This record gives sequence, C-alpha cells and structure tokens, in this order.
Amino acid sequence: MSKHAAVVGSGLVGSLWTTFLAQRGYHVDVFERRSDSRLAGYKGGRSINLALSDRGWRALEAVGVAEAVRREAIPMYRRVMHAIDGTITTQPYGEQGQAIWSVSRGGINMALMTEAEKHANVRLHFEHDTDLDDATQGRIHWTTPDGKGSGCFDAVFSTDGANSGIRKALQAEGAMEWTEQVIDHGYKELLIPAGPNATSPIEREALHIWPRASYMLIGLPNPDGSFTMTLFFPNEGPVSFAALDTPEAAEVFFAEFFADALALMPDFKEQWAQNPVSKLSIVRSWPWSKGKVVLFGDATHAIVPFYGQGMNSGFEDCFEL
Ligand SMILES: Cc1cc2nc3c(=O)[nH]c(=O)nc-3n(C[C@H](O)[C@H](O)[C@H](O)COP(=O)(O)OP(=O)(O)OC[C@H]3O[C@@H](n4cnc5c(N)ncnc54)[C@H](O)[C@@H]3O)c2cc1C
Repeated sequence: MSKHAAVVGSGLVGSLWTTFLAQRGYHVDVFERRSDSRLAGYKGGRSINLALSDRGWRALEAVGVAEAVRREAIPMYRRVMHAIDGTITTQPYGEQGQAIWSVSRGGINMALMTEAEKHANVRLHFEHDTDLDDATQGRIHWTTPDGKGSGCFDAVFSTDGANSGIRKALQAEGAMEWTEQVIDHGYKELLIPAGPNATSPIEREALHIWPRASYMLIGLPNPDGSFTMTLFFPNEGPVSFAALDTPEAAEVFFAEFFADALALMPDFKEQWAQNPVSKLSIVRSWPWSKGKVVLFGDATHAIVPFYGQGMNSGFEDCFEL
C-alpha cells in the first residue's frame, strides 16, 4: 500500500519536494497557509529574483522540472562590479557558457506547484495554516477560513520556511535545538526599470554588484528588462538605514556612493519611502527529524542571502533525501 505524506508549506522547497515524493509513489497532501498565488497573484515576499546554481538545477533535473523553470530563467555569465567612480570590472562565473541563473521567486514557485499538481497522487490545500500535534504519530492540525481539521500521516515534511512553526513545536517538546542569529545588516529592495521596448539599461546577462566594503548593492535581471536591486546595509550606526531616515538623505548618499545606479532609478525617492527594510538571519537546528517529522529548507537551515544558496541548498535537500 502506498504511503501517505503531508508537506507543510508549498514554497520553493515544499513544492519541489512534493514532486519527488509523488514520483516515489507517495500520496501527498500539501498544506499551505497562503491562498493559491497562481490565482491570487504572488505574495511570497519582496525578493523578486534569486540566483539558481548547479546544485539547484541538479534537483530540478532529477524530477524533470528543469525545462519549466529554464523557460523564464536568465543566465548570468559574469559578475559586473561597479566602483564608486563608475569604473567597471568583470569576473566570469565559470568556463565559457557556464552561468548562474536569475529566476523569479514567484515564477519558479508557481511553476513548481503546477508541476507537482500534474501528479494524480498530489492534492494541494491552500489557506490551511498548519501546525504539529504529535511527531511520533505524524499528526498535524490545520485552521482554514471554514474551520479546523487534523490528520495522521506516515511522514510529515516541514517546509514552512525560516519561521517554521513545526520547528518551534519540536523545540517546545525538547526534541530539537535551534538558534536564530539576526545579523547587523538588513536589506531593502529597489528597481531599475526596463528601457524602451523591454531593453535592459545595464548588461542583461550578468549579476551586477556595487561592493562598498561593509555594505553592497546588487542587481539581478528580470525577463521584462528591469533589474531588481537589493541594498544590504547596516541597520544602525553612522552609515546605516537608521541614519538614512528620509528619502532625501538616501538620495544624497546614493549620489555619492552609487551614482550610476541612482541615475537609472528616476523614482528613487518614492521607492525608498515605500519599500521596507527587512531583517536577515541565520537559522541552525539539530536534529533535522523527530519521529515521523523531517525538516527541509529554510525551516532547518536558513542562510543569509549573500551566498545565493538558501533555495539552492533547500533543493539539494530534496535531491539528497
Ligand atoms: C533578499 C533575499 C535574497 C535571496 N536570494 C537567494 C538567491 O539568490 N539564491 C538562493 O538560493 N536563495 C536566496 N534566498 C533564500 C531563499 O529565498 C530561501 O532559502 C528559500 O525561499 C527557502 O525556501 P523554503 O521553501 O524553505 O521556504 P519559503 O520559500 O519561505 O516557503 C515556506 C512556505 O511555507 C508556508 N508556511 C509558513 N508557515 C506555514 C504554516 N503554518 N502552515 C502552512 N504553510 C506555511 C509559507 O506561506 C511559504 O509558502 C534569498 C533570500 C532573501 C531574503
């Protein structure tokens, strides 16, 4: 008789892992707190694009979903570094033709959900806020707009992200130790809009970096020609988000340290005012499993984004397990 698994969280890792399980013959029920982003529009956080590298592709290829992802992915063959005086230097990411890839977070998440749902043995349940009752029994419960429910499963996979409620429940019963280290830097996202006819105002097939010792700005390309920019910056101190407390102050700072990027953001002050500063943290936990419950992805090993490895290592969890 085939086994029955629950996957809690249909983010990047949960959606991919569901396909792995389905192809191994499991019946899979996926419980996701949010509504279906394919119908409601993606609300999965503000980071619009991510860098996908070989360890991620290997997992996507193993279950035949790489092509669906590649259709919307942009190769970034090299790193383009912008000095304060506007000088540009470059570094290739590998041999000729090798690249890391810019993928839309919402786009890849929706593609992975659609691929998972193609399997007759998969059911996705949206608006199901889910938590753990009993790790030994594999029992979980959920709350929906229509009421509450619960069920027992042969295996429960916790892919509910860096704030995992299941990880916290396991810790509460003494089954797991975990730490969250909130670092001194936060991040804010900005956008360089596309040029005319969806052209890119800076080299398109590249990852752009404005390195400035203790902080940096990066830019990844989007299919519509725009670039999503992320400023990683100290939260407090003389040079910090706290110090740049008005859009005008931020604009003066950018004019000095990121002048070429600022010139490409005509609505910089509006973006600065609207886009929040988000925290960055590292989650470490051990062990990764208890009874019938296994933690995957950010739920067990969230990592700061500078390495571009959070999603990639979560996909590797799927490949290795
Ligand atoms: C600014 C930034 C840039 C990044 N850049 C990169 C990059 O370039 N490359 C890279 O590899 N990684 C990058 N990352 C990391 C990457 O985003 C994460 O590692 C990845 O999203 C983790 O996937 P996940 O499925 O484990 O968690 P998530 O994507 O967070 O998904 C968790 C899912 O669980 C659901 N959920 C939560 N609680 C419940 C509940 N109680 N019940 C039901 N469902 C629930 C959520 O709604 C969500 O859908 C970046 C992260 C940030 C913040």
